[in-house]
Amino acid sequence: MLNDALNGVQTVVFDLDGTLYNKRGLAQRMVTRLWWCLPLLAAERLARRNMHYVQYASEEEFFGVFFRAMSRGHWWGPNIAAQWYNIVYLPAMTRLIKRYHPPRKEALEMLAECRKRGLKTAIYSDYGAVIEKLEALHIDPQQFDLLVSAPELGALKPSEPCARRVLELLNADPKTTLFVGDREEKDGVSARMVGAKFYLI
Ligand SMILES: [Mg+2]
Repeated sequence: MLNDALNGVQTVVFDLDGTLYNKRGLAQRMVTRLWWCLPLLAAERLARRNMHYVQYASEEEFFGVFFRAMSRGHWWGPNIAAQWYNIVYLPAMTRLIKRYHPPRKEALEMLAECRKRGLKTAIYSDYGAVIEKLEALHIDPQQFDLLVSAPELGALKPSEPCARRVLELLNADPKTTLFVGDREEKDGVSARMVGAKFYLI
């Protein structure tokens, strides 16, 4: 089934969270670890939910709106929200992944098969800290032709402009590109938006 999915494929675009590792229990662990800043954690989730289906011109614009949304109605401002996100939230997630969430066997097999076949590969994540998370999973970031997150391209998944940009950056033909992800409504829709194939992990 795995090898069937790669037949006729030249480029494989992997999602990261939930795809390269099983995400089950991570949200609860984040709550337990970040109990002292639960209001910020809750504000992050709410702001993220409200960012869906909006396309921004740049990463700066995306995060400007995101951190303002996180701060609305709270004592902290966008600068504190940004610092918390980059210094507390993402590193905490990375540490928990390293400790409790080993890579999925199926994902590692797929990566090995891609290397064997000489396929172009990319990570297209919905979060930042892509390199740090790959290292936490002991997956060599250097093996990929492209590491990118949707916010870097101005939106969250699914976004047609972002998915198109990923293909452009890879110089890939959608007809021979496979998206691999754990969420039909994010990764599957992204693939369909650009006419690429999708494999649900
Ligand atoms: Mg995912």
